[in-house]
Amino acid sequence: MSGRLAVVGLGPGAAAWRAPEAVERLARASDLVGYGPYLAMVTEEDSPAVRHEFDNREEARRAELALDLAAAGRDVVVVSSGDPGVFAMATAVVEALHAGVDRYAGVDVSIVPGITAASAAAARIGAPLGHDFCCISLSDVLKPWSVVERRLEAVACADLVVALYNPTSRHRPWQLGRALEILGAHRTPDTPVVLGRDVGRDGESTRVTSLGAVDDGDVDMRTVVIVGSTTTRAFVDGRGRTWVYTPRTYPAAD
Ligand code: SAH
Repeated sequence: MSGRLAVVGLGPGAAAWRAPEAVERLARASDLVGYGPYLAMVTEEDSPAVRHEFDNREEARRAELALDLAAAGRDVVVVSSGDPGVFAMATAVVEALHAGVDRYAGVDVSIVPGITAASAAAARIGAPLGHDFCCISLSDVLKPWSVVERRLEAVACADLVVALYNPTSRHRPWQLGRALEILGAHRTPDTPVVLGRDVGRDGESTRVTSLGAVDDGDVDMRTVVIVGSTTTRAFVDGRGRTWVYTPRTYPAAD
């Protein structure tokens, strides 16, 4: 007897930013699998399911356990913050499914999308992602730092707005500075930078600074950093509120 498994995006935190399909899957689940702080975003009222808590680095084991539970007939939800497909659990689950195609043949697997941190922070400040943009994780736990640097160079040359996830941690104190240095070689110091911290959660803040003025101390692992392109602008409206946007039109190509 096989059950089902959903990899669910919880969104950034606020209940209003959680998809109805995610709410429904959580309410019906028999088992929740996830990293402790993400499981803590799900109340007993949201889901009375049995909880299987994992360390952040045990993604492969977490995915396999979830699939095994579903193969045994359970109704399993793997939780991720934000969107499960953005630096989160959906990939680990699909990888495990690929590795065990026969074993998990009977399991009905689905991915329930969520609002990712970059979209949430962008919404708080205007429309910095309104044109071509990309997301890069500065974590070098799973990929070599040389790959991160190469991508940042390409982003800088392509003049893309970039949302930096996992910008810093106790073990990675210098990477953000290096990333901003690479981008700064192609953008002016007054390029707008948005620091969205705990967006959609208690104590949230979204601040605007500039490429030449980012203070590393203002950025931690709960922050997403959006660095504008050469066309991104900031202004203060008549009510004193700061807005950041990337215009829809481009200077004429030369
Ligand atoms: N799947 C998540 C991202 C997980 S990677 C998503 O789609 O949002 C973890 C990184 O995401 C953090 O280091 C931070 O850079 C960013 N992040 C996640 N939630 C956030 C929030 N509520 N506010 C600001 N940044 C957040």
